[in-house]
Amino acid sequence: MSKIKLSLRSTREYGESRALFIDRECLVEYDGDVCLREKDFKLLVEYLPKLKNLLKDYDYCLVVAHLPQVAKGWLNHKELEKMDQKIIDDSQKNELQIDAVMNCIHSPDEDGIVALCIPCSCHPDRGGLFLQAAVKYNLSLSRSAYVSYKDLKINKSLGLDFLNFNDL
Ligand SMILES: [Zn+2]
Repeated sequence: MSKIKLSLRSTREYGESRALFIDRECLVEYDGDVCLREKDFKLLVEYLPKLKNLLKDYDYCLVVAHLPQVAKGWLNHKELEKMDQKIIDDSQKNELQIDAVMNCIHSPDEDGIVALCIPCSCHPDRGGLFLQAAVKYNLSLSRSAYVSYKDLKINKSLGLDFLNFNDL
């Protein structure tokens, strides 16, 4: 018993639950480099069945994104909340249950909103979003996975499996 407790205290193992983290870029499409308004993007409905199928093996579905456009002052919080809700609602309409959308809204650049232009821990390079989720949802990160088009270097050190969206 004491052995289990010890292992749960390591940075990647908070519990036994498994999460499927999905890079937001796999779920939405929009014109241009960034999307700044809720009405300008749409859900990639045709990809949802394969994600839904994959989700059978996981307890939680969490969408993650890096949106430095908030720190730069191009995208405001209210609009971002609407976008997050649209992702959740439209996915649900297509029978994909998303538990939460988690965003890093910071930028290491100095050109933007001072309070948000910081070297944050939730930046995709540092993996703080995954660790926050691990605490909140009692996750075992080594039994969880990240779906994206590109691997993050931090995945490996957190023990997260990387699933290439192109190969699903
Ligand atoms: Zn951040």
